[in-house]
Amino acid sequence: MQADETPLSRKRTRASPRNDNPPSLSKDEEFWYEDGTLVLIAANIEFRVYRGPLAKHSPVFRDLLALPQPPSSQSAPSTPIGSDTCPPCPKVHVTDSPSDLRHFLRAFVPGGTLDGALDAPKFGAVSAWIRLGHKYEVDKLVENSLQYLRRFYPKVLSESLSVCSGPIKKDRPEDVQGPHAIAIVNLARLTGSNDLLPLALLECCKLGAGIVSGYVREDGTVEHLHPDDLGRCFAAKEKLALRVVSAYLHVFEVPRDDDEGCLDSEECREALRESMQMFRLVGVDWVKVDELLEHERMELLTIENYSLCAHCREEAQKVIIKHRKQFWNALPRLFNVDVDGWALIAAK
Ligand SMILES: [Zn+2]
Repeated sequence: MQADETPLSRKRTRASPRNDNPPSLSKDEEFWYEDGTLVLIAANIEFRVYRGPLAKHSPVFRDLLALPQPPSSQSAPSTPIGSDTCPPCPKVHVTDSPSDLRHFLRAFVPGGTLDGALDAPKFGAVSAWIRLGHKYEVDKLVENSLQYLRRFYPKVLSESLSVCSGPIKKDRPEDVQGPHAIAIVNLARLTGSNDLLPLALLECCKLGAGIVSGYVREDGTVEHLHPDDLGRCFAAKEKLALRVVSAYLHVFEVPRDDDEGCLDSEECREALRESMQMFRLVGVDWVKVDELLEHERMELLTIENYSLCAHCREEAQKVIIKHRKQFWNALPRLFNVDVDGWALIAAK
């Protein structure tokens, strides 16, 4: 994680030895309001914004701006954009990257996200809202952003779901999948949102060797899983895969010898024997750890393709649902995380 121990600083961090020629500053092209009342400086970019909204929503900014301000704040030359006739105003150095700060400030402009709906934000924005929102104590922005992630990483599994309606949807945005899950685990850790962890860690388990490469943010910063979470993934992956294989094997045991409901036991047995053979030959190589939760996955692999009678089809679906529930209930334990409210929701 980024070292952001000091949220705000009045003084420029001076490189050693003494630097008499500080880098020139550029005005941000998006956030430079001539009548702004506060200049934030991130790296070598100046953002001239209004202090009111920041002070209203962020106790950190409110406290800082309540302090007496230095009489003059023309501490470094700026590269002008148009006329440079803005009245002096407080300048505050922040340790955030300019791209993170830009996302954060967008939440405070009319039509921004602090009070509005989060329809389809990019992950870079969501990540910045949570990290900077946490740092500057903008609780509402953090909570709204976490709720957005919970759409794709829920903590409840509806019992009313059919076998093909897994909670992990195919149409999840690309930028909440794959290596982004590393960042989601870290955001969950940062904010104590343990409910995001089981599915985010499950997603991390699919990264293969890439799990150690981490997630690269827009500003080039690379995030890695904490070694403890990396260990959780290594420890859980094998157990998760075995649970998926076990579900398949139980499906192949339909119909039982004493099952009188099967309409054509010979044909059904033959179909499942063939499917088991296929699974043994090729299927076992592409078992995915989240297969039991994936939308349409199990239906496609175990039922749709094989000619089972209606009774056996129903029995196979029951087996899959049963294993899906067991898998879901076991997730927090397999990843060794405590989650309040991790549950199945009974069918209505
Ligand atoms: Zn049958």
